[in-house]
Amino acid sequence: MNRLLFAFTIWASLGFQPQAHGAGRIQVMLLDGESGGPYHAWQATTPVLKKELEETGLFQVDVVTAPPAGGDFSAFKPDFGKYQVLVMNYDAPDERWPDALKSAFASYVSGGGGLVTVHAADNAFAGWLAFNEMIGVGGWRGRTEKSGPLWYDKDGKLVSDDKAGRAGNHGNRVPFAITVQDANHPITKGLPHVWMHQGDELYNSLRGPGKNMTVLATAYSDPENHGTGHDEPMLLTLSYGKGRVFHTTLGHDINALSCVGFMVTFQRGTEWAATGKVTQKVPAVFPTATVVAYRSDIAAMDPNYKYGLNALSNPPGAGRGGR
Ligand code: ZN
Repeated sequence: MNRLLFAFTIWASLGFQPQAHGAGRIQVMLLDGESGGPYHAWQATTPVLKKELEETGLFQVDVVTAPPAGGDFSAFKPDFGKYQVLVMNYDAPDERWPDALKSAFASYVSGGGGLVTVHAADNAFAGWLAFNEMIGVGGWRGRTEKSGPLWYDKDGKLVSDDKAGRAGNHGNRVPFAITVQDANHPITKGLPHVWMHQGDELYNSLRGPGKNMTVLATAYSDPENHGTGHDEPMLLTLSYGKGRVFHTTLGHDINALSCVGFMVTFQRGTEWAATGKVTQKVPAVFPTATVVAYRSDIAAMDPNYKYGLNALSNPPGAGRGGR
């Protein structure tokens, strides 16, 4: 077979339309460059997030890497206005960003730019009020009751809890069930009511202002795995001015990102944050209430992946340290 024809057949089978570089696609800035401590390997997870978006054929992703801790931010002026949505795979302390950068970011979102925060991005900027209003809830980095109440679902309703204490915790990384609480939202429409997420950190005890926030999906935080006994928010949407925000607490590592449920909600959430709509169908293979579904080709992007069984390099029970 002619090699060119063969290449085109592959493209066509993946649903791509041959077109100019990025023409007509949603422009995405994928921001990385720092994580709190050694817990999150952003250098390894950014290529996975980029692949998951670009393989839909809907997105053109530019990776923008912020200077490291101690780096020079004076020349770091991302062109936010070029993008319909900013995906944050980034976690830095309050003092890292100059005020002008914070203002430019907040103006971009309040002016109608989309924002997607993945997992530990909700650890970032504990003392920056505007950012915490965008994400609704966050954990770690010294957050306490002063950052806002705890937020979780009780009998299917979102409640706040003024109990004092720190913010942010999780149990061992094991598969757990995600329950859709709002099945009418474009991001969750058509998903099973309950589906199993691949082994991941189940964040609990998140705090924040919780303004203009909708919890799309929760997970039960099991006291037998260092949990709270509450239905903790996993997938959230918010508005900040004219901007739409999709906040997923999922996605600690490549193993977690390989979950079809993570991938589909991330792809849909990014489209929704950018446009207010979701045009993507739920794939035929999706986790069920009892069985996880993950992409082995994505799991294999983990440098520690071995033997075709990622459970071996990331055993259940791994990783209570960190966040
Ligand atoms: Zn984590």
